[in-house]
Amino acid sequence: MEALLRVSPVAIHLLDLDGTVRLWNPAAERLFGWRQDDVLGHRAPWATGARWETFLHHQEQAARGLAPSSLELELHRRDGTPVQVELWTAPMPSSTGPAQHLALLVDLTERRRDEAARQRLLDASDGLASSLDPDATLEHLVRLAVPAHAESCRVFREDVPGQPRRVASAGVEARSPATTEAAALPDGATVSPDEATVSRVIATGEPALHAGPPSWLCVPLARTGALVLSTSERAYTLRELALARELTRRASLALDNARLYHEARQALRARDEVLAIASHELKSPISALRLQVQSLRAALERAPEALLRERLHRGLDLVGRQVKRQAKLIDALLDVSRIHAGRLALTPEPVDLSALVREVAERLELEFAGTGAHLTLTLPTDAHGHWDRLRLDQVLTNLVSNAVKYGRGNPVEVALSSTDAQVRLDVRDAGIGIAPEHLPRLFHRFERAVSDRDYGGVGLGLWIVREVVEAMGGHVSASSSPGVGSTFTVVLPKTRG
Ligand code: ADP
Repeated sequence: MEALLRVSPVAIHLLDLDGTVRLWNPAAERLFGWRQDDVLGHRAPWATGARWETFLHHQEQAARGLAPSSLELELHRRDGTPVQVELWTAPMPSSTGPAQHLALLVDLTERRRDEAARQRLLDASDGLASSLDPDATLEHLVRLAVPAHAESCRVFREDVPGQPRRVASAGVEARSPATTEAAALPDGATVSPDEATVSRVIATGEPALHAGPPSWLCVPLARTGALVLSTSERAYTLRELALARELTRRASLALDNARLYHEARQALRARDEVLAIASHELKSPISALRLQVQSLRAALERAPEALLRERLHRGLDLVGRQVKRQAKLIDALLDVSRIHAGRLALTPEPVDLSALVREVAERLELEFAGTGAHLTLTLPTDAHGHWDRLRLDQVLTNLVSNAVKYGRGNPVEVALSSTDAQVRLDVRDAGIGIAPEHLPRLFHRFERAVSDRDYGGVGLGLWIVREVVEAMGGHVSASSSPGVGSTFTVVLPKTRG
């Protein structure tokens, strides 16, 4: 018992009910500054006035089972400085003398300081949500933990698996043990996890902790990131790991908000773009239609009997073409909203693709009769599969009409080839071609490599082609040389669609 009292890290007193000290162990000497000889036989010296009354009242209540056995209390040391303690008391039955209490006093100063720092950190992290710029959020995040919780704080992001990149940092430079021997660390530098560890944390979502010191901890951040805290002075504990996880949870929310805001803005911009293009594209054929109708009516009124069949034919042809153009554009715009809403439903059925290509080619040859473009078809007999016929017709129509439209009147080749598992379609023209810098964007919405003045169009056709082909489990690509011509290639699996 003697030994226990001596080595106990917790301050222990034995007190009479009136607070007279009967036992005062070395930990109590260290905590309060009074030596055992100073206090034995005297009233406990660490409280006066109201605090002393509180203490006595609690002793009495606890002895009668009316109060919990623990109490948090502010006492003072011999030098007058305050000390927060948690006081645990237990009545000690005594057969001889007066009743006594065993009191254990746990120093709460450290814990309080920790809690206050934790709270300060969490309060400050509220500011994470104030920015809708992801970079600003990360900058804020790394600065939060330094210097109170870390000498170095960094955020990594992994766009390529296995290759985390540092995207924000604060505090002193931290070195990975893989790149620098601990002994060779420059003054003030701390260690940190190697790339493989950061990568594993990102991949598994499980945090990692190197106790040290020097010490580091690494916690996942959003879906593809990690936060690393390093310190050379102390060992991180599970409490700090939990704190770091709370921080990254808050940062992830802020990053998510920023992403949603960004997406919403993009959607708005896309809508404005659609409206601008659609109103322009819808308006010009309408103006043409109105003029045409006005001129036909004027001709009729001026000399109905003299109105030549020929004139009427030409007028109606033009009206027909403009109406078709309108309908096509409206279909494309409807497709945009369907695809955007994820409602591009496919209805697969058995399709002979060679027959479908022939059908589309005949239709387009009629439509483009004036351009002089000649279509050459290379069609196998076994290009059968399960696909959505109408959507496939749309893909072929878009690619072949582009080849004619941008083909400068040169011949267009459509070649189909088939294996057991897939079909491949090449639509080749010898037209204006596409500059290499435009190629990667052409399958995006509203992207065009030509000016409105030279060629009408809204830049939706190839986007729709890609969406349809990918929904069918296939792939579309383009290769081109400016001034020489372009080839668009679609590869489709036979079983899906
Ligand atoms: P649109 O033809 O209505 O502009 P598309 O999405 O079909 O829209 O095509 C996007 C752009 O790709 C076109 O504006 C044009 O610049 C380019 N393009 C498409 N097909 C060809 C082709 N066969 N040859 C040259 N450029 C092409």
